[in-house]
Amino acid sequence: MKKLLLISSIALTSLSFTSSTYYDVYICDSTTAKKYHLKKDCRGLSNCKAEVKKITLTKAKELKRTLCGWED
Ligand SMILES: [Zn+2]
Repeated sequence: MKKLLLISSIALTSLSFTSSTYYDVYICDSTTAKKYHLKKDCRGLSNCKAEVKKITLTKAKELKRTLCGWED
């Protein structure tokens, strides 16, 4: 019974961690773009010739995007 409690508390902790990383980021919808951006007016995005899309951070990581070097 004690073990079950421990497992459910771990599950709750990881759940809250997941929700805290669930926020929107911006990407340049180009095949050459490899980054994601926290701000829509980021200087890294101003070079984007394609469409700027708003997606979740989870999705950005699925697309193997890394955080843009211009972000603070
Ligand atoms: Zn950026």
